[in-house]
Amino acid sequence: MSSLWGRAREAQTSLKCPECDASLLIARSCHDVIMRCAACGASYPLRRFIAEADSVMEDFLENVYVDRM
Ligand SMILES: [Zn+2]
Repeated sequence: MSSLWGRAREAQTSLKCPECDASLLIARSCHDVIMRCAACGASYPLRRFIAEADSVMEDFLENVYVDRM
């Protein structure tokens, strides 16, 4: 278990913001995971992007679920 990932609350993904084409971050709050754009401030529900999730997102989500157990 990596302590780096255990503490990470957000991570840079390879997905692009639909609004401004900057890279999206995957971020978690207490009860939810969202996709967030640091460039324009937009946020999107994770489910909108889950079909095209990259390895960063998969690793991040794996860790979120591990933390909840
Ligand atoms: Zn944006």
